[in-house]
Amino acid sequence: MTTESETYIGVKPCGCLIMAIVDRPEHQKDVAKEVAKAIREGLKVSRVPTQQVRDMPWECPLHKAEKGEPEQTIIEVTPHGNV
Ligand SMILES: [Zn+2]
Repeated sequence: MTTESETYIGVKPCGCLIMAIVDRPEHQKDVAKEVAKAIREGLKVSRVPTQQVRDMPWECPLHKAEKGEPEQTIIEVTPHGNV
């Protein structure tokens, strides 16, 4: 049994994959809407086998490296500048 589906992916100029929508005929309207939105946002949209999306890295090498840093702790700095 082959359940091969295709997925639309939206890739930022840097290479990050930030959108993935499985192309389902029953959701064609929503899919088209999301794809149009992605294109408006400047993403490079392509249609690839869903399995390929599962296997591929979602972050570009640059942002993948950033994600490895303990960034969340830095955000805990008080928003008020009156120290
Ligand atoms: Zn990136």
